[in-house]
Amino acid sequence: MKQNFDNHHFREQFPAIKNIGMVYLDSAATALKPQVMIDTINDYFANNGATVHRSLHQTGKETTEQYEAARYKCASLINSPAVENVIWTRGATESINMIAYGYLQHAIKDGDEIIINDAEHHSNLIPWLMVAKIKGAKIVRLPLRENGTIDVQCLDTLISAKTKFIALTQMSNVTGFMPDIQAVIEKAHRKGVKVAVDGAQGAAHSPLDVIASGIDFYVLSAHKMYGPTGVGVLYYSPNIADEFFPVYGGGQMLSTLEGETIIPKKSPFKYEAGTPNIAGILGFGAVLDWLKNYDMEVLKNHSKQLVDIIDRELQSTVPGYIRYSQPGSSILSFNISGLHHVDFSTLLSEFGISIRSGKHCAIPLMKHFGISGTLRASLAPYNNESDAFHFIDAIKQTLKILR
Ligand code: PLP
Repeated sequence: MKQNFDNHHFREQFPAIKNIGMVYLDSAATALKPQVMIDTINDYFANNGATVHRSLHQTGKETTEQYEAARYKCASLINSPAVENVIWTRGATESINMIAYGYLQHAIKDGDEIIINDAEHHSNLIPWLMVAKIKGAKIVRLPLRENGTIDVQCLDTLISAKTKFIALTQMSNVTGFMPDIQAVIEKAHRKGVKVAVDGAQGAAHSPLDVIASGIDFYVLSAHKMYGPTGVGVLYYSPNIADEFFPVYGGGQMLSTLEGETIIPKKSPFKYEAGTPNIAGILGFGAVLDWLKNYDMEVLKNHSKQLVDIIDRELQSTVPGYIRYSQPGSSILSFNISGLHHVDFSTLLSEFGISIRSGKHCAIPLMKHFGISGTLRASLAPYNNESDAFHFIDAIKQTLKILR
């Protein structure tokens, strides 16, 4: 049963809001954590502490059950056809690297083409460039429009007989733009091309339905969705199970060893060598239960409305305000002409505002805009109108100092 969204009640569940005493507008970097996650992690360390899938004693069994239950919750969040297709990783970055080295490196050869674009976070860019270099594959770029959005229609002409793989984001961490993933998958699959989507930002607002979309790979990061750092997810389609190989060798991934022949366990364990971030995964499981109380569409709209209030006020009252993010997003990337984003964010911090400034791990996009960086405020459902007005006021105070 979904609760009616009550911003005050939602906010109350995040102790850091009171404890940091700042207006936190940096949720695209990492979201704050609800008490239920903190309690779950504390409880694990205080009252259990055992590892998973090894020890047959009581606490070992309990931890393993909770750990696998968290996987099940994650599988149901994205509608995975099977829990086996949901792999725990350390974050979206590790998930993408595992696709690069466990799948793409084996699937492409000299002269094949990989389609990327210049609006990606470095995590969804550098691994593909590295594999392309190793294999002699060619990188093809989907063009960006002037406003930094990705023109997916161009795929009709860009996909060639040599194209093997397309990687793109579900939601840009700079512009908040959400490309039409479904159109990309359909265009790609018609030509036998595989698609990986980086859901690090998008899953926090609208997790993809992996069955309905037919996607090949989908990754996400728990810490952007109110979960702990150091936990990520990698979903892969059952259709590519035979072409997706483990990247890490070690304990827990092995079924048996025949001489030097490695016989790995079944999925997902063959991809999960070593001791995982058990506490973090249990904490993320608790977050996934808690999130079910809310309609994610309502949460997303709340954040967007606050961005809209800030944007409209800055448009009408701040000369030189330049917005780079798309309207209708929870992310507001902007500059104020003549002022450096780093100076600005440093002073905003003095006025109690936590926002990010810089290149946002998106150097190609900054080059596309012809700038050295932006200020980025990213809002979440725990923010309220008072945060928005405090931010606007802090910008005006900062401008009095800098101008
Ligand atoms: N992709 C996008 C769009 C991101 O915004 C981020 C983090 O900011 C990542 C990937 C990398 O996520 P992580 O650092 O959690 O691995």
